Amino acid sequence: MLPARPASPTEASGVAEAGARGKPRALVTGGAGFIGSHLCEQLLAEGYRVVCMDNLRTGSLENIAHLEDEPNFEYVEHDVTTYMGIPGELDEVYHFASPASPKDFTRIPIPILKVGALGTYNALGLARLKGARFMLASSSEVYGDPLIHPQTEEYWGNVNPVGIRGVYDEAKRYAESLTMAYHRHHRLQTRIVRIFNTYGPRMRPDDGRMIPNFISQVLSGRPLTVYGDGSQTRSVQYIDDLIEGIWLLMKSAEVRPINVGNPVEYTVREIAEMIVEISGCEGELVFEPLPEDDPRRRCPDISRAREVLGWEPRVPPREGLKKTFDWFAGRSNRPEASSVKR
Ligand code: UDP
Repeated sequence: MLPARPASPTEASGVAEAGARGKPRALVTGGAGFIGSHLCEQLLAEGYRVVCMDNLRTGSLENIAHLEDEPNFEYVEHDVTTYMGIPGELDEVYHFASPASPKDFTRIPIPILKVGALGTYNALGLARLKGARFMLASSSEVYGDPLIHPQTEEYWGNVNPVGIRGVYDEAKRYAESLTMAYHRHHRLQTRIVRIFNTYGPRMRPDDGRMIPNFISQVLSGRPLTVYGDGSQTRSVQYIDDLIEGIWLLMKSAEVRPINVGNPVEYTVREIAEMIVEISGCEGELVFEPLPEDDPRRRCPDISRAREVLGWEPRVPPREGLKKTFDWFAGRSNRPEASSVKR
């Protein structure tokens, strides 16, 4: 559970409303994924009944195995791109289903477009039917390869629609547009969180992203593959900070998109070097070609999150990377976790 914060007026009234009908109930699509599974945990800790939905394309039952015996936790295996029917009431819908690693952009481009379009449409329709508040997990990728730094929510982005990253960027942009249409046209209560690079326990070691790659490589004594010359930047936030931002946003009255990320910017090479240092191992860097349309710089402006949510990241990168490293190290030493009953 996250450290307690004083409840804002909107937060208090939102919980009281749902509480009048018993424990609030939330649906998390992509609930067996990296972010989704942490979100399920947070909601359970806050007293919610949670329906976790996943098609396990990139999610894993291992991520939710520890929630299996929670009486308020329910797992449904389902692909959100097809009609979603959930019996009973729902107070909140968190639409977090989507593959998100650049490796997936070429491996499964069409499912990514479908989950952003059809999946968002189905999740919005369900929220409307139930009178639930809806949150879209959007992404810093809506800014593409940004031309302004840091990125504010007002920036419209610089996206190549026909490039290999376009499948994810455009899916998220479309999903934002659809969410706002449901808000304006159907008066649905909606929230849009633009998530910047996030890391932590439960990322897939073979996910292909920078942090799981570097940690897996150093743990197995392989050189760390830095793409390009490693001078491109990312700002990385620890999962606990993100979950807190999501929680505060859902309880707020903010309908405009909000950046949730850590504004401390590092070069990719610096992140590789930090991971080597944390590991205490010898780590060699090898330089490989930069993937197509790889953004040169990415860094959130979090003024809106600070003002509206009173949120800012609390976990310093070195501390979060150490926790993540320790989790990966522990995982590589243990047999596969048991699966959840369906
Ligand atoms: N990257 C890298 N080596 C890797 C994986 C990624 O140098 O093994 C770089 C990648 O080119 C990008 C940055 O790390 O510049 C972050 O990549 P990631 O896949 O984590 O996510 P992105 O921010 O590009 O969506």
